[in-house]
Amino acid sequence: MKNQHTKTAIVTGASRGIGAEVAQRLARNGFNLIVNYSGSEEAASKIVNNIERAGGNAISAKADVSDVAAVKRMFDSAETAFGGVDVLVNNAGIMKLAKLADSDDGLIDSQIAINFKGTINTLREAANRLQDGGTIVNFSTSVVGLYLENYSIYAAIKAGIETLTKIMAKELRGRSITVNAVAPGPTATDLFLNGKSAEVIDKMSKAPPLERLGTPEDIGNIVAFLASEEAGWINGQIIRANGGVV
Ligand code: NAP
Repeated sequence: MKNQHTKTAIVTGASRGIGAEVAQRLARNGFNLIVNYSGSEEAASKIVNNIERAGGNAISAKADVSDVAAVKRMFDSAETAFGGVDVLVNNAGIMKLAKLADSDDGLIDSQIAINFKGTINTLREAANRLQDGGTIVNFSTSVVGLYLENYSIYAAIKAGIETLTKIMAKELRGRSITVNAVAPGPTATDLFLNGKSAEVIDKMSKAPPLERLGTPEDIGNIVAFLASEEAGWINGQIIRANGGVV
């Protein structure tokens, strides 16, 4: 067993993108880290090494969040390594874009399985196993407010995550657990950049009044705040972080 007194955070999808930054940021703030991934083992190991080199504690945990048994095993590993879980960051996600009329079953089912059921799986586990005084941070998207064409399935699922966030905040009454969501705008990661032309990226970068893409660090700052004692009075809220685009 490692440090039993330090708080422990699970960050889903922490091998790359926003999750990798959130995990490293929380580790710098003193949390033990569970670096979850589904396929990118090497990338997850690199994040664990970065955390350990900086003096933190971390383990990686392979778990497809859409797999109930794998999610349970991830919580088991966290409890074995660190004695309990205080923070869950539900960051893992995929994005597949198409007009609804052109969306095949694979596009629809994979996003429901990972983005929706995956978040429900980890939320249910956290509702039963998170330490009192803990924190849950879910991930929505600012497209829930922008209503962009081609985003119908992805955005509708994320709207569901916002609803889950608000109801979970109430259902955990009495345990001093806060449940909030961050809703980033376009952020420079594989999920946003892959498959888009330079022209589209440029147009979307210029859309917010702050005229740039978000960075994983922008979002990591917000998650770190929500996981801190200073944010203890924020509960059941959706934080839109998008440079003012909506
Ligand atoms: P990303 O760079 O594509 O990274 C996605 C992460 O999720 C990876 O670590 C990936 O790990 C993991 N993942 C994917 N499927 C998984 C599964 N079934 N089980 C466990 N982990 C899984 O994406 P990102 O941009 O950082 O997005 C993070 C979150 O922010 C998502 O919820 C996304 O919807 C949300 N968001 C992003 C943007 C944006 O513009 N980037 C905007 C709004 C909201 P593996 O490689 O190991 O599978």
